[in-house]
Amino acid sequence: MFGVIEGTGFETIESEFNECFIGHVRVERLWTGARWSEGPAWFPAGRYLVWSDIPNNRLMRWDETDGSVSVFRHPSNNANGNTVDQQGRLVSCEHLTRRVTRTEHDGSVTVIAEKFQGKRLNSPNDVVVKSDGSVWFTDPSYGIMMDYEGDRAESEIGACHVYRVDPISGTVEAVATDFLKPNGLAFSPDETELYIADTGITHDPDGPAHIRRFTLSPDGKSLSGGALFAECSRGVFDGFRFDRDGRLWSSAADGVHCLDRTGNLIGKISIPEMVGNLCFGGPKRNRLFIAGTTSLYSVFLNVNGA
Ligand code: MG
Repeated sequence: MFGVIEGTGFETIESEFNECFIGHVRVERLWTGARWSEGPAWFPAGRYLVWSDIPNNRLMRWDETDGSVSVFRHPSNNANGNTVDQQGRLVSCEHLTRRVTRTEHDGSVTVIAEKFQGKRLNSPNDVVVKSDGSVWFTDPSYGIMMDYEGDRAESEIGACHVYRVDPISGTVEAVATDFLKPNGLAFSPDETELYIADTGITHDPDGPAHIRRFTLSPDGKSLSGGALFAECSRGVFDGFRFDRDGRLWSSAADGVHCLDRTGNLIGKISIPEMVGNLCFGGPKRNRLFIAGTTSLYSVFLNVNGA
């Protein structure tokens, strides 16, 4: 577990990246045995990480106290992206049931979003919760395009949007409607901006493989802008997170890409499997957890998650 895993390592592209990692620290493979790992989410109070194994229809749980891995929930309704809200509750995107849910402290599951203007969502993919309690999620059609990661079905909405769920009224509103396949999303550390990936290239060779940057309105409820922030040089940006200094750490086909505030690629963490998503965790949020296809990896960094 603490040995060198073949195919892992740090690659500096801009010298700024050298400050982000500790030279002798190695990437660890914490567990393997998934079909497609996604959606890692760190629970500080419990010192554990929950992540999705989408095709196996289960949520997994890695325990920091003893390194053990167990099944957190089965069936998971082909859960994909997960996050933890301000109250420490799990919020999940479910492909099979085409909804976003919250797991309450007593274990019951509350549906946060399942329809937009009376039509069923496609297959929510990734989700973030803003400090005001609003829930923002992407709704590409991956989970209804085949039976592997959900149930094949026609899109009722007929498009793939980004949505905001109001914390008071529960209303689901579309906040971005010009995406092909909206995917990962993250607020800048100060929450003045929202970054959203479009992975449309997966089903259209001329489609996007990029992240766009939006500015939040003063009331924090709507978006403007949406200019290109960064193009992915290997595969797609699926899921990503910010560190406290505003660098963006994203999944990619060859591992993790680290982008500076201008979207410039400054370095990589090589992973021998395609990476779907990642998150910061640990008591100091200086440990990056990486969901890479069949495995869960982690590495301690010299940065802290936002
Ligand atoms: Mg995703």
